[in-house]
Amino acid sequence: MWSLRDWRRRCILARHPIPDALWQAVSRRLPVIAALTPGEQTRLREQATLLLAAKTISGAGGLDPDAAMRVHIAALAALPLLGLDLDWYDNWHEIVVYPDTFVQEHEWEDEFGVMHRERRELDGESWQQGPLVLAWHEIEASGQGSGFNLVVHEIAHKLDMQNGDANGYPPLQRGMSHADWNAAFSAAYEDMVRRDESGMETPLDPYAADAPEEFFAVACEAYFEIPAQLHAAYPAVYDQLCLFFRRDPLAPSAVP
Ligand SMILES: [Zn+2]
Repeated sequence: MWSLRDWRRRCILARHPIPDALWQAVSRRLPVIAALTPGEQTRLREQATLLLAAKTISGAGGLDPDAAMRVHIAALAALPLLGLDLDWYDNWHEIVVYPDTFVQEHEWEDEFGVMHRERRELDGESWQQGPLVLAWHEIEASGQGSGFNLVVHEIAHKLDMQNGDANGYPPLQRGMSHADWNAAFSAAYEDMVRRDESGMETPLDPYAADAPEEFFAVACEAYFEIPAQLHAAYPAVYDQLCLFFRRDPLAPSAVP
């Protein structure tokens, strides 16, 4: 017997399918999709369909995202949902897309009650409250199998914020060990910081050495884009991400 949730899911998939031609056109532009098994590609398309029904995608800065752009964004945003349910995205409702790098002004109050204002140029951001904000030119650069994926990066921050501030420590799946997570991520983060500070080559984007939450977000990008490289550099982190995302990209038939 179907649960109410299954029934809703099947209704949305039946009533609002992504047209074949559109999905194929988007897939052709995203090598990260071609690297998935046929079963995973089907799952990705279904999750992208549900995501388009559940979230709003708005343009900003003069951009009006068309159907192809929406499906492109949804396909990338659905990658973490290959093994997770859409409930993991419950803490955000909207994706705002700028054509290019955007300027955000932030105000905050320091410990003495003094207000500060800061202007920053960004390609993407995600806050505890509020939408995912992304620059289209960086979305287009994502999903190419190079290790870079702005959409996955910002969604990783949202997953991390499911249990408070972004700190590289998202709520773990049932049965996962906090000690194993901590050991794997602490050791790899320290290695990245050491290499970065001594001017050595780093196996991940050096931005990962900026803070533990950035290490987590960059490791998620690598997990979806260049899993073999992540596995070679930081196998314990790779294993933890397989447990967290409930799939093994290097052995897609084995469900961890
Ligand atoms: Zn970040």
